[in-house]
Amino acid sequence: DFDFADRVERVEPSATLAISNLAGELEADGVDVVDLSVGEPDFPTPQNVVEAGQDAMASGHTGYTSSNGVPELREAIAEKLRGDGIDCTSDNVIVTPGGKQALFETFQSLIDDGDEVVLLDPAWVSYEAMAKLAGGSLNRVDLAPYDFQLEPALDDLSEAVSDETELLVVNSPSNPTGAVYSDDALEGVRDLAVEHDITVISDEIYEQITYGVEPTSLASLDGMGDRTVTINGFSKAYSMTGWRLGYLCAPEELVSQAAKLHSHSVSCAVNFVQHAGIEALENTDEAVTEMRDAFRERRDMLVDLFADHDVDVPVGDGAFYMMIPVDDDDQAWCEGAIEDAHVATVPGSAFGSPGYARISYAASEERLREAVERLAEHDYI
Ligand code: PLP
Repeated sequence: DFDFADRVERVEPSATLAISNLAGELEADGVDVVDLSVGEPDFPTPQNVVEAGQDAMASGHTGYTSSNGVPELREAIAEKLRGDGIDCTSDNVIVTPGGKQALFETFQSLIDDGDEVVLLDPAWVSYEAMAKLAGGSLNRVDLAPYDFQLEPALDDLSEAVSDETELLVVNSPSNPTGAVYSDDALEGVRDLAVEHDITVISDEIYEQITYGVEPTSLASLDGMGDRTVTINGFSKAYSMTGWRLGYLCAPEELVSQAAKLHSHSVSCAVNFVQHAGIEALENTDEAVTEMRDAFRERRDMLVDLFADHDVDVPVGDGAFYMMIPVDDDDQAWCEGAIEDAHVATVPGSAFGSPGYARISYAASEERLREAVERLAEHDYI
């Protein structure tokens, strides 16, 4: 018998696991499942990025790099962030194997047992797990009554936060809602963060995937530069999920703490992957535009298709997810939808918002159309 650490026992296995297990079992039986549960773009990594990775590997970029990352990549990241209005240099940047690791290092650097972490629900599943692993206590603000927008929820947020709040997590564009928060909403966050001396994680991993709106970087707002950890990554923008590349940008004193966790755990992100990352940052405008346009068309198509079935979807202006309203027992709805209609989605309760199901539209128009038809045919919508 093992005597497991409290911190791992505090964390539940991912609620999406039940769905992917069901999907896997059905597929093993030869059933054609439309899988809208996955959070990854359905496009190949742009060819020039693949080649940059291959060239870097072939030319010997195969050893460890300096722990915080290859200097040219850190500089390219800092330049990108300065373009977003963030006052930073490469000294503020740690390159990580995925945005997830950057988030993990941030939680571990800031949260002690009992420290309060505020999440805006529905929130991406891993924030809760990371907060709990670090010993944090969760305080959640529900955006569902406000069509997942933050601005109308600012009064609720103001009531939730206090001088006891250590960390607030903001994710715009949002997984799972696709919501992009307005400048007024972000300024409201800034005012509360300054008033109560709160550190804010701004997870901007979907920042390149927006439709007709320009997302604002929280750290670019007056008063936020020295209290924001900006998280980003290459997975979603450049369809590079399996390459594992991301970063954090934070005040130097935080960087030096996170750098200890980084060097004693992952050592560094993969060397040739970091070189491919430079190409991704510098030469992918066309590929990113193509993916963005495709996502936008699918979103619009899906919203229309659901409207035809009287399903009113709160439409977000970014990412490639939407939350559709379903039965109160969303877990049962999702299990039924996969068993009967062979359409895989994720229950909203996994994100803290029961009564919804998350649909990822990182799938072809044909498959999305098929999914809506099947859901309608089996009376799920
Ligand atoms: N943040 C959000 C909101 C996400 O949805 C994801 C991936 O699903 C990540 C961070 C982490 O992505 P990665 O570790 O692939 O960079």
